[in-house]
Amino acid sequence: KKARDDRRGIAAYESGDDSVHLREMQIIHSLPKALQHNQLYVVYQPKESLHTGKCEQVEALIRWEHPQLGVVSPAEFIPLAECAGMIHLVTHWVMDKVLQQQQQWRAQGVNIRVAVNLAGSDFEQDVVACISHKLQQYQLTGDAIALEITEGVLIANMSGTCEKLQQLRQMGIEVAIDDFGTGHSSLAYLKDLPVDEIKIDKAFVDDLLVDRRAQRIVLTTIEMAHHLGFRVTVEGVENSRQRELLKRMGADLLQGMLFSNPMRGAELAYHGDTLQLNCMPLAQSL
Ligand code: C2E
Ligand code: MG
Ligand code: MG
Ligand code: MG
Repeated sequence: KKARDDRRGIAAYESGDDSVHLREMQIIHSLPKALQHNQLYVVYQPKESLHTGKCEQVEALIRWEHPQLGVVSPAEFIPLAECAGMIHLVTHWVMDKVLQQQQQWRAQGVNIRVAVNLAGSDFEQDVVACISHKLQQYQLTGDAIALEITEGVLIANMSGTCEKLQQLRQMGIEVAIDDFGTGHSSLAYLKDLPVDEIKIDKAFVDDLLVDRRAQRIVLTTIEMAHHLGFRVTVEGVENSRQRELLKRMGADLLQGMLFSNPMRGAELAYHGDTLQLNCMPLAQSL
């Protein structure tokens, strides 16, 4: 298996910390059964369109309340699952849950695209055939989903991944680059990127109000992305001053706890033809 030094799993094995090792073994060992028995669930975090003020897309995020370990964050178990060669189990499971939820929403007249996070090793499998098969199985079309991948995944196998992304987009699926700006990418790779959206990483937003250079980077990234034909989402927006600044900078969509935390599918309610959150978005009450 490919080893990446930013993985906590690898670091733990090297440090020889037995308690960390044990925890990680336990996580990996219990994951397949936990998925089978639906101990995990999916929450959906809305993205706010700055053009319409409405929620037009949600992102699916996986959650796990482990019977012994308590809440285990995806930031911990996703890299472990990838290391252990199990990520396809997670991806299949999430895709099934998302498409089942989509069937329910569609039956209620709700039309919203759901973004699913993919991991690098998903692209080592036949991700195109798998997704196309699942859409057929649930009688849905490509406009039901979007896919989020990080820069690292693209760079690992640029031409192979781009080809698969292009095929997915031909099915009407949208593609976004997640955590944009934190990978080891060069500007050159952006030129021919077959994507619809880039998501500027929260790290830039955290410094936005205090750091002029972070401001410049975000503004320049938004302008460049627009010139290249990409929509821009900014993640991790937590307060209305960040929101106002990002709106002036021309960002298209915002995601973060200011607009809405991730919620269970049933907590997203529809009124007329627009999705509204059962909790009032903070941005509008401020
Ligand atoms: P991501 O895709 O970049 O997701 C954004 C993360 O930021 C989520 O953490 C979300 O809950 C959190 N977040 C959103 N708004 C705010 C905010 O305003 N403030 C702060 N502090 N955090 C915010 P989460 O759900 O813990 O997921 C962490 C990462 O785990 C995700 O990062 C993604 O890379 C991965 N992940 C989550 N679900 C899945 C999945 O189903 N499949 C795969 N392959 N990866 C997943
Ligand atoms: Mg994401
Ligand atoms: Mg992200
Ligand atoms: Mg991120």
